[in-house]
Amino acid sequence: MLGKGPLELMVSAVRQLAPRVRAFELRNLQGGELPAVEPGSHLRIPVRLPGGKLVERHYSIASNPARRDIYEIAVLRKKQGSGGSRAVHESYGIGTRLRVNPPANHFSLHDDERPALLIAGGIGITPIKAMARALANRGAEFRLHYAGRSRAEIAFRDRLERQLGDRLQVHSSAEGERLDIHATLAMAPRNALIYACGPQRLIGAVQQAARELGIARNRIRLEFFS
Ligand SMILES: Cc1cc2nc3c(=O)[nH]c(=O)nc-3n(C[C@H](O)[C@H](O)[C@H](O)COP(=O)(O)OP(=O)(O)OC[C@H]3O[C@@H](n4cnc5c(N)ncnc54)[C@H](O)[C@@H]3O)c2cc1C
Repeated sequence: MLGKGPLELMVSAVRQLAPRVRAFELRNLQGGELPAVEPGSHLRIPVRLPGGKLVERHYSIASNPARRDIYEIAVLRKKQGSGGSRAVHESYGIGTRLRVNPPANHFSLHDDERPALLIAGGIGITPIKAMARALANRGAEFRLHYAGRSRAEIAFRDRLERQLGDRLQVHSSAEGERLDIHATLAMAPRNALIYACGPQRLIGAVQQAARELGIARNRIRLEFFS
């Protein structure tokens, strides 16, 4: 059993979503319902680094937030760095048991009638996917722009296409489908809330376009996977 939190989870399924992205389905080891999650929430997951040190890494809950039977996280295997994501890929399998704290949220979704523009870059799709699902569940108006390197590397693409239809636009740079952030923000409804999660370059481009377009800061919510 890894970790110290009060919530005992077990990995109940593992799926390879893209060459470097693996999803882990987590269930309550005691049976019964998991704590409710807000869209945008994450778990702090215990990970043993290659040198033996036990650390935590944050992983957003990508599954439908209305579900109380499972949480699904998706982990990008980083080539560089301390090896936390590599350790998750290599040591987590069906039956792995974890003790974690209940989900926390620093990237909350508005709960009123205003429309939303969702922008995800690469693995930044994880909290955005949960947000899209919550907005769809409540019949809200939204669009999701999802940018990635190539179609094969765009995790959850098939599922999102099925669930969201023409509310989803995928931009694969290998296929020349560049996401024009300035134009996307310019076309958003004037009262839309704008959410973005992805690499620093994408976040910076959203901030810059918002400044240029005079979009109020309180209409923009960002999460960066530091
Ligand atoms: C809110 C949030 C949600 C996230 N969601 C996702 C997600 O859904 N999917 C995903 O793939 N990634 C997600 N991340 C990123 C993830 O938490 C890891 O940063 C990522 O997997 C890389 O970890 P790493 O150990 O491989 O890389 P590293 O870059 O080595 O480490 C990542 C972080 O751990 C810190 N760190 C490095 N070494 C140590 C150490 N010895 N002790 C303590 N801290 C150390 C670093 O400062 C860095 O912030 C999220 C991050 C945040 C903050």
